[in-house]
Amino acid sequence: MFFLRSRLGRLQPLEAFRGGEPRVFAPFARQLQPLVPVADAAQHVRLMLEPGQRLLDVAAIVRAATRRELAELDSHACVAPEVVEDEHVDGHEAHAIIKSNRGAVNKAEVVIIGAGVMGVSIAAHLAGRGIRDVLVLDRGSELGAGSTARATGGFRAQFATEINVRLSLLSRDELRARAEFGYQPHGYLFLARAEETMRVLREAQRVQHACGLSEARMIDAREARELNPAIGDPLIIGGAFCPSDGFIAPMAILRGYAREARIEFGVEVHGLRTDGDRVLAVQTRRGEIEGDVFVNAAGAWAAPFGDVPVEPLERHVVPTVATDVLPESMPMTIWCEDGFHLRVRDGRVLLLSPERDVETPARERVPPLRNVAIDRAAAWSGFYEMSPDHHAIVGRSVPYANLFLANGSSGHGVMHAPAIGRLVAELIAGVPTSIDITPLRPSRFAENAAISGPTLL
Ligand SMILES: Cc1cc2nc3c(=O)[nH]c(=O)nc-3n(C[C@H](O)[C@H](O)[C@H](O)COP(=O)(O)OP(=O)(O)OC[C@H]3O[C@@H](n4cnc5c(N)ncnc54)[C@H](O)[C@@H]3O)c2cc1C
Repeated sequence: MFFLRSRLGRLQPLEAFRGGEPRVFAPFARQLQPLVPVADAAQHVRLMLEPGQRLLDVAAIVRAATRRELAELDSHACVAPEVVEDEHVDGHEAHAIIKSNRGAVNKAEVVIIGAGVMGVSIAAHLAGRGIRDVLVLDRGSELGAGSTARATGGFRAQFATEINVRLSLLSRDELRARAEFGYQPHGYLFLARAEETMRVLREAQRVQHACGLSEARMIDAREARELNPAIGDPLIIGGAFCPSDGFIAPMAILRGYAREARIEFGVEVHGLRTDGDRVLAVQTRRGEIEGDVFVNAAGAWAAPFGDVPVEPLERHVVPTVATDVLPESMPMTIWCEDGFHLRVRDGRVLLLSPERDVETPARERVPPLRNVAIDRAAAWSGFYEMSPDHHAIVGRSVPYANLFLANGSSGHGVMHAPAIGRLVAELIAGVPTSIDITPLRPSRFAENAAISGPTLL
């Protein structure tokens, strides 16, 4: 359900205005409310007028809303909306939204569920292979409705399993070739407080070196402090560092691929029509959409489409206020034992941890942050798409031969999307894949062949 502030100053469900003059694509899904801060959701609010496909930005109206007002929402009241601001959105977004207003089709050669970074990467790579009759469906109203917009933008090839290292290296080739994807090799610095952690990092590095990541190296505590002088933790005994790891720009990647994709927004897939081991159509409120091939790229919400063992795991990002106490070029710095990590982005330090409390480790371990305030109002959360063995699930689904899965990246989906998009496009095109992805096959769980290996982060 979508909302807009009315003339009486109350937030109204936009469903009420459907069928009237303004056609509304605003994504303010109420069920997302506990997960999406109001200020964040406001960025996604757009009102589209017909004819003329003119975009009015009503974000400012909703930005003024408070959580209390939302809680008090009277969903039955209906008052004509007042649009107080008129802005044109940037070219890429406008392009994507306007596309959704074009004649809807009920059939495509390839139908992809989900226009996150994974879905649009697959569509773009299919287009690159000449497969252009591809339709990407997304229940959001514009790009970034899922986890991709919430990612912090880390990229690394320092993994402990061969398949993850190879996925990263394949992605990195494309990240290097497309400057707009924002690849910045500032490094990933894994820190260890215990010998056992050093052993795990060393073993992972053996795998990395065997895959060709020769620049990854073990470091002692002195070098760790040289690489990141802000570390003030006396318990660090050493760690691992790879200078070609670093940062990427999730939304730039998403928009870049989306320019090469046909996306229809505001369409939620709620089921599959099947016949034996084939999917015939996806079912939506606007009717069925048939296809020859289907792809599940629905992120943390993938489970229903092809029996996918993926569960959402909520993760929080807590920024500081704007500060220059740490440089943007600081490597991603990770305490392996508890997963606390930090990076600098857009003039703020982003603090992350599997634990709720990020403030205590930040102040204890990074002295320059002791006097830097946390900006709680700017904090956000999102979902990792966890698979049982924390590795992606890529390939034909078990129940349906023409349904491909691109799921379960378990928190690494942005960095691996260039690779997985390419690999899924290769599978669909029926050509040999760039790397061997049999370890990622969806059937591995039923075959007792889940991938084993430690998770470094
Ligand atoms: C806090 C946080 C930090 C992260 N940091 C990083 C990082 O540094 N590096 C990294 O690589 N990854 C990171 N990730 C993980 C990354 O965001 C995800 O792995 C990645 O975005 C997954 O992409 P996706 O396209 O599969 O899913 P999404 O981006 O979630 O896209 C799925 C899309 O499917 C749509 N959808 C879902 N269900 C339906 C349906 N039934 N019908 C129609 N549409 C549907 C959704 O609207 C959504 O747009 C982070 C995640 C979080 C939450």
